Amino acid sequence: MPIRNRMWSQWPGAKLALRLIRSGLHLHIVAAVIAASIFALSGTVLWQARQDTWHEAEEASHNLLTAVARDISTNMELLDLALKGVVQGLAYPGLAQLPPELRHLILFDRVATTTYLGSILVLDESGKVVADAASVKPRTGDFADRDYFSVHRERTDAGLYVSRPYKSRFRNGDISIAISRRLAHPDGRFAGVVIGALSLSHIEQAFKSLKLGRDSAVSLFRSDGVLLTREPLIGPELGQDLSASANVQRFLREPSGSFVGTSAVDNVERLFTFKALDNLPVVFTLNRAVDDIFDEWQDRALVLGLITALLCCAVVALAALFQRELRRRTAAEDELARLATTDGLTGLPNRRAFDEAFEREWSQAARSGHALSLLFVDVDFFKRYNDRYGHGEGDRVLRAVAEAISGSLKRPDDFGARYGGEEFTLLLPATDRAGAEAMAEAIRAAVMALGLAHEDSPHRVVTVSVGVAGAVPRPGQRSQSLLQSADTALYRAKAAGRNMLQAA
Ligand code: GH3
Ligand code: MG
Ligand code: MG
Repeated sequence: MPIRNRMWSQWPGAKLALRLIRSGLHLHIVAAVIAASIFALSGTVLWQARQDTWHEAEEASHNLLTAVARDISTNMELLDLALKGVVQGLAYPGLAQLPPELRHLILFDRVATTTYLGSILVLDESGKVVADAASVKPRTGDFADRDYFSVHRERTDAGLYVSRPYKSRFRNGDISIAISRRLAHPDGRFAGVVIGALSLSHIEQAFKSLKLGRDSAVSLFRSDGVLLTREPLIGPELGQDLSASANVQRFLREPSGSFVGTSAVDNVERLFTFKALDNLPVVFTLNRAVDDIFDEWQDRALVLGLITALLCCAVVALAALFQRELRRRTAAEDELARLATTDGLTGLPNRRAFDEAFEREWSQAARSGHALSLLFVDVDFFKRYNDRYGHGEGDRVLRAVAEAISGSLKRPDDFGARYGGEEFTLLLPATDRAGAEAMAEAIRAAVMALGLAHEDSPHRVVTVSVGVAGAVPRPGQRSQSLLQSADTALYRAKAAGRNMLQAA
């Protein structure tokens, strides 16, 4: 099929593209490849964005953790420094003889104003308060029942001890933890403890200000797995020993790191980031729900995914529509082309098709040096036939003659056409004069054998006359000369009595 649109056909790739598209199957492949590419591309972009989101979250967690850990660490160290000062002060000989105010100054001179500071107390070996950073005259209290007291009474090697959370008796039940150090007589006997209390509410306040996502949490663990504080406070009680939890065991094993795990408390998958405080038996952890981290990404992924799916559907739908339209048009064009070259009455190729075939075969014969033969077939006394039997009967005769002609075509290259009116032509490529005459005779005999009554013909039946011409085209020779020869031969056959063939 020629390309109708000239603009289109001027583009060099147009013919190839159109041929590929016309072959149908390729368009499906092209659409599938485009759709798959779009999918792959947006999938890659989304995956990359997801990776980035994750790395950013990990880094942000780590930075946050480091900053807060440093803050807590500093405060704890300052408090410990104060405790060490008290221990040193108590060792000062003659301290007991000094006036109370001076004694208070010596003991608590290193007490800095720390953010989380609750109280600093000295307890004697029975757990009674003997010195109090808050006032020269110590408040009355007995803390022999506290773990930060008993641990030092029972062990000499506890060092800096971090207590379990407790309700402060001096500060209206304020939840606190304490760090404590052992006091000893010169001979090493237990002499009591010095403790520094920290209000957990201050630490919680600091945690709250971090503004984490919905399902995120920060916690402070003692290095034996006891939960000191958690924000928000859900699940286990403060002070509970969680060392059996696999996640907590990981916090305690390494100085710092991060991993993804499922919380035993609420079954939420979280990114756990943890860091042990320097010089303190405490681990600080930051847990962010994986869903929290991917919240924004998920929204974006959903939108991009939907757009991608729509695009792909559009590509496939357009391809299908285009394909259908193309098939419809191709079929219509093919049908038009067939109609344009077919004779409506007989179904044989028409004059136009004959002209094309003739030119083609003529050049072919000229190239190959083979003979090209041409037969001109004309129904005898057909005007009379029409006059006697009517035009309708005449048409029927033309159809019968056409059938006789196409029935006599044997070779694939033989070509029969209705030339016009009651005239037919046959092209016989690579056929010599003898072959052409044999074919002409076969057609003449076949038509007569039909036995179609023709009262006004001397032959009493419908007959045809045939003019035969053949040539090996010479360079420069025009095809019309062959047609002319066949026509002349036909004229001679008519003149000689009809129902016969004459060769040029
Ligand atoms: P001759 O033996 O010399 O060929 O005489 P003839 O009458 O066949 O030749 P002529 O050229 O005088 O007449 C041809 C007739 O063919 C005239 C026309 O009416 C008729 N004819 C042409 N086309 C058709 C057609 O499609 N159908 C019918 N029924 N008749 C046709
Ligand atoms: Mg005629
Ligand atoms: Mg005739």
